Amino acid sequence: MSLARVLAINLIGLKGEAIDIEVDVSNGLPSYSLLGLPDATLNESRERIRAAILNSAKNWPNRKVTVSLAPAWLPKSGSAFDLPIALAILAASAQIDLKKLEGIFFLGELALDGSLKPIRGVLPTLIAARSLGMARVVVPSENFQEAGLLRDLEVMAFSNLGEVLHYLESGLRIENPPLIEIVDSATSLDMADVSGHVESKFALEIAAAGGHNVLMIGAPGSGKTMLAERFPTILPPLDESEAIEVAGIHSIAGTLNQRNILSALPPFLAPHHATTIPALIGGGSGSIRPGACSLAHRGVLFIDEAPECASGILDALRQPIESGKITITRSAQTATFPARFILLLAANPCPCGKFAGRGRACECSSLQIRRYLSKISGPLLDRVDLRIKVESPTRSELTQGITITSVQMRERVIQARLIAETRFAEHDFKLNSEISPNLLREKFRPRKDGLALLHKLLDSESITARGFHRTIRVAWSIADLGGIATPGKEEIERALELRVGIKGE
Ligand SMILES: [Zn+2]
Repeated sequence: MSLARVLAINLIGLKGEAIDIEVDVSNGLPSYSLLGLPDATLNESRERIRAAILNSAKNWPNRKVTVSLAPAWLPKSGSAFDLPIALAILAASAQIDLKKLEGIFFLGELALDGSLKPIRGVLPTLIAARSLGMARVVVPSENFQEAGLLRDLEVMAFSNLGEVLHYLESGLRIENPPLIEIVDSATSLDMADVSGHVESKFALEIAAAGGHNVLMIGAPGSGKTMLAERFPTILPPLDESEAIEVAGIHSIAGTLNQRNILSALPPFLAPHHATTIPALIGGGSGSIRPGACSLAHRGVLFIDEAPECASGILDALRQPIESGKITITRSAQTATFPARFILLLAANPCPCGKFAGRGRACECSSLQIRRYLSKISGPLLDRVDLRIKVESPTRSELTQGITITSVQMRERVIQARLIAETRFAEHDFKLNSEISPNLLREKFRPRKDGLALLHKLLDSESITARGFHRTIRVAWSIADLGGIATPGKEEIERALELRVGIKGE
């Protein structure tokens, strides 16, 4: 046998493409060629594979070795091909039986000493392999728990090439550790840690129930960040398929170690306001990596001091907010990542941050204040249903003992979402934040008394048409939380109370 063929998967975004690795070993001057648009990492595979084979008590064929990755036109990247290429070389040089490789999907990077190193993107790679009919997979030990999320696959993990060869030759598997179970949450954060803030917590509960984006305005130190960090704890936990989807995105980005693989807690991403567009929406050199937007998929994206963001940064969020996904195009590649998140923006009330702070003097002019807040552009603000004022709790609020816990808040949010889901059964959306203006005017109108109040405000120009729609959406979430069938005057009033006026809105 001088020709061997094995299957590999090349990832573009979350999508895996089947790659045929063909190795031919023929007589001729010793050489090695790798064909089929490999990137730099893949090109360096030769040295890794050669050393790994020699260090695993096998021989490097001192003949003409040709490795072809097909289809040839598709650019390929990464180090996951090391193991399958090494095995194909050993099969093509008759050092192992090619038949033993059949029906098994291999992936992993090789170190010079033959050890198997973990790779990024194991989950999406294995999902693609599974769709091609592969049911048995061999992965590096460190990727075992991640691969094990796909319960219907037979996963075998090894720590070096020698172990893989021993398994192939003897059929004896090594004992893998037990798989971990999905955990409800992997955080010690709880809303109960934050004293006071009754009003802000209620607003966040509404946001969680209706999937509303939020702008929090408050002085530095008023508790915006503490509240934001705890927001995921009041969102419904991810189910298994959602947790796998989220883990897959983090796997490609290489951030899985920052997150418990099997956490049902929605992700929380807090990019600094000095972040860049590639870091926020995705990109990077080499293969396209997801950005904070996609890492926050099914969770929360929090941007503190939002008006300080460089121009263009906040506007880059419009595509994912509108479509729930982000498409990145770079020279030869286009990758799409899901990006459906709840956006939490925080801003100081004025550039110096002291405005309206208790007993603190602010010297910002009204023009400066207006300029500062207007840096969050109108089109983005249109997608922010809730604008709330966050104030430092008073002494009496701080000394009041009992505070509501995340579990209690989350229970109410889950109930409210169930009510909304039933109401929207005939529609292709589930959340109040997704009700279109048309549907707000027709099918999902508030009760007459509520509508009358809003029309009065519209007539006196105390509310804009957009504010009108936002208020009704929020009122629906308040009604769902209160178990009220249709929002009326009371819910509309409550929604209006939560609102912070922003000049020009
Ligand atoms: Zn100021």
